Amino acid sequence: MDTIKRIGVLTSGGDAPGMNAAIRAVTRTAIHHGMEVYGIKRGYQGMIEGDIVKLDSLAVSGILQKGGTILKTARCAEFRTPEGRKKAYDQLKKFNINGVIVIGGDGSFTGATLMSREYDIPFIGIPGTIDNDLYGTEYTIGYDTALNTIVSAVDKIRDTASSLNRVFFVEVMGKEAGFVALHSGIACGAEGILIPEVKGQLDKLRVYLVQRSKEFKSSIILVAEGEDEGRAIDIAARFQKEFPDFDIRTTILGHIQRGGSPSAVDRVNASRLGVAAVEALLDDQQSIMVGIMQNEIVHVPINKTVKLHKDIDRDLMKIVDMLQ
Ligand code: ATP
Repeated sequence: MDTIKRIGVLTSGGDAPGMNAAIRAVTRTAIHHGMEVYGIKRGYQGMIEGDIVKLDSLAVSGILQKGGTILKTARCAEFRTPEGRKKAYDQLKKFNINGVIVIGGDGSFTGATLMSREYDIPFIGIPGTIDNDLYGTEYTIGYDTALNTIVSAVDKIRDTASSLNRVFFVEVMGKEAGFVALHSGIACGAEGILIPEVKGQLDKLRVYLVQRSKEFKSSIILVAEGEDEGRAIDIAARFQKEFPDFDIRTTILGHIQRGGSPSAVDRVNASRLGVAAVEALLDDQQSIMVGIMQNEIVHVPINKTVKLHKDIDRDLMKIVDMLQ
């Protein structure tokens, strides 16, 4: 493999607060080590189209505290095809980029895995998704900020729920994984949590609401958007029919969960991961994701992060039940 002189960095898939902190860390670490850095705009779409700009230290100044991603992000169908990846490779060659750092989730890493098999170019992944659903790392960029956003929103919902004795079903992000719902639920003192990993929760909720009806107190139920029993609004409608005496409402938190200034935890960890990704490239690593386990930086084969499933900590469900 050629000595890496010029690297590309991109953000791909859903945006997450802290991505800018990672871009800044990648850029400044690479410059520190005498490399040139190019920002690839709009994820793999920009790689295919050659929408690639040089980044210097000044270009990443003042972005640490900003949500979103200055490089923008995209979902790119063409990159899923070998022809699309060939176009992307040709652009990397044109710009003399011989190492790529991808900040994204499992879809982005699947694309990186395929391209690194087809072409001799090292890819390093940085976990960037608010879902925290990647195998091999306890932490993903944006997760902590998203939890804080949810906690602050649900605290407000609780004020009105308790004043009017209402039951609120609050839908949070997590299409295939319940990490966000489970952890924010504990942080909010939610009375119930519905996540795709745990079956039979609706029956438990029925028993709980029957008890609750005697006391007639308000409740907050957090629902992951990928819950098998349906979306929060449909579950709430079913429960309203079953429990006509309750005043049941639904709130879908939606995209506010993705936005906002990153938390201190996200800024620090994104900076650590950005530095680690560049150091991994310098160390001739290929096709790995840098992650954090037990507060230490780890290297995980990137194909493992997409093939293997990360499970929730089931003991946390017991905490939810015990503290409701
Ligand atoms: P998030 O977890 O925030 O959704 P993600 O990285 O999983 O992030 P995706 O939309 O799944 O987001 O993937 C981002 C991009 O990665 C896709 O738009 C596509 O360009 C590329 N990608 C995803 N899956 C594949 C695949 N199977 N083959 C090639 N490229 C892929």
